[in-house]
Amino acid sequence: MQINIKRSLTIFVSLTILFYAAGNSALASNNPIKVLTTTSDLKSITEIIGGDKVTVSSISTGAANIHFVQTKPSYMIKARKADLFIENGLGLEVTWVSLIIEGSRNKKIKPGNNGHLDASKGITPLDIPSKEIDRSMGDIHPFGNPHYWLDPLNAKIMAANIAERLTKLSPDEASYFQENLTRFNTKIYTKMKEWKTKLAPYYGEPIVTYHKSWSYFVKRFGFRVAAELEPKPGILPSPSHLKEVINIVKANNIKVILSEIFYDDKAAKFIANATGARVVIVPNSVGGTKEAENYFDLIDTIVKQVEHGFKSAKEDNR
Ligand SMILES: [Zn+2]
Repeated sequence: MQINIKRSLTIFVSLTILFYAAGNSALASNNPIKVLTTTSDLKSITEIIGGDKVTVSSISTGAANIHFVQTKPSYMIKARKADLFIENGLGLEVTWVSLIIEGSRNKKIKPGNNGHLDASKGITPLDIPSKEIDRSMGDIHPFGNPHYWLDPLNAKIMAANIAERLTKLSPDEASYFQENLTRFNTKIYTKMKEWKTKLAPYYGEPIVTYHKSWSYFVKRFGFRVAAELEPKPGILPSPSHLKEVINIVKANNIKVILSEIFYDDKAAKFIANATGARVVIVPNSVGGTKEAENYFDLIDTIVKQVEHGFKSAKEDNR
């Protein structure tokens, strides 16, 4: 009997050690880091850097407007289980992100802790308002332009931030994350040449965009946004504003109106009909369309569509 008690005690102690070890090795390589991202672009980059050492899910699918996400209990449940929460930052998710973090009751992912990452660290923001914006007026870019992921060189900064944080959470995998980061940067370098070559014939061209989401993209590839269909970010186009846009398009001989897949295309088509400009509809996030499966495919798709828009406008003018 005594032997049995001793044996039971040994088994109990062994099991306790096992459970303890399992709890502590939650971030070990055979137990991937559970990451929740706000955007599908962050998900894609995290998957490239984290490889099989991470499991990633994203709140946004990339098919809808990321500024206005409806918070669902399922997001909070995912956030509760996450080891790492990554947000785009610069105000992109300002209307909903804190609801999810607070609702998750997961202290690890609160801002300031290792389980929370703002991927905009190190990004130089564009379109910073010269005076404080009253958000009740509807402007949804109060801290400058948050659509920085559309410049592929900014994706390198995002990837470095992600690699650094994954390394902090799982130091044993430091070299694995570093290798993936180096490979990512090399691919961006190679693809940048290809993307720039494709768009080079249209360097300096003015374009019109629906939302002020293309500032980083146009700066990188040498276009100029002459007008937006939204009078202010997040404010629907008004007839008087569209009239002004028509004048700008005619005066500058603008050939392309760029819009995301989730905006109503009525206003863009109205301008196109009045001026002969082309409407180019593109995804602005991974998963926005079938082709935009990962970050590289996203930029590929945008570059291809923009190039096609300019080419067909040119053919029309022959
Ligand atoms: Zn925006």
